[in-house]
Amino acid sequence: MVSSVGTEYEDIWEIVREQVDISREEFDKKVNEVYSKGKAFLTKRAAAIIVAKKLNISTQQILYTPIIGRLLEVGATRMARSARGETPYVLFTIVNEQERIPCVAFGEKHISTLKKADDKVVRLKNYLKAKLQKYSITKITEESIIEILDDNALPPITDLKPAWAESLKDIKERRGTHIVKVLVIDESSSEYLSCPICGKTLEFVSDEWLCPEHGSVEPETKTIRRYILSDRSGTFPAVYFGTDVQESILNRLIVAKGYFRNDEFQIQKIYWISDNEII
Ligand SMILES: [Zn+2]
Repeated sequence: MVSSVGTEYEDIWEIVREQVDISREEFDKKVNEVYSKGKAFLTKRAAAIIVAKKLNISTQQILYTPIIGRLLEVGATRMARSARGETPYVLFTIVNEQERIPCVAFGEKHISTLKKADDKVVRLKNYLKAKLQKYSITKITEESIIEILDDNALPPITDLKPAWAESLKDIKERRGTHIVKVLVIDESSSEYLSCPICGKTLEFVSDEWLCPEHGSVEPETKTIRRYILSDRSGTFPAVYFGTDVQESILNRLIVAKGYFRNDEFQIQKIYWISDNEII
């Protein structure tokens, strides 16, 4: 007879179920056996951990249950040097209804997954926690798993409070990518020549257009939009390389995601533009 189980070890069962061919009934039975042997010193959850370990589930996976969040930002690829050679890594942040979670991912595979997953719902498994000076960071190693979940798994990113900043000044002070609602009080655009592969600005060197990454390429003309954004905290210059915005958004309110590079707000995405001019 297997007693009914509450939620005391559902998360551990989830991890076991994915990796071991065992029925729920059998797992519960094993948990109860261990529990009845050490009742005075164990909770049902502790018994489940012991059983999971006997089934060869790593302690790391048991301690750090999967995290779900939307991918708010991914930084540039950098290189970590160690005795074993060079490993590429990126810093990234995911956000859910409760918090912003700073993370770092190592290895080409994870980097390429992340670079294609802007705003998507991701689930991180089998990660580690690393302590930095001021905060702890979730560390995605080559053994960790990043999965893209169905978009319904979380509300839209603009509905996730921890993704928002109070104001542009607030973003500038806090660093990192945030969402804000601001008024566009000036706009202009100019064209530049970019690499057709990566979009970087080209340099004209001895009769050729050169990309810093791809060498000689056939240039592509792109539009860069510059704005002055305003909110109660002040006015701030902004730049946007996206192509999905109408000709003029002057005097309109926008909801956008971005970060500060020096004194300039880098708009990464515009989610909403007011139908009417506000001023
Ligand atoms: Zn390029």
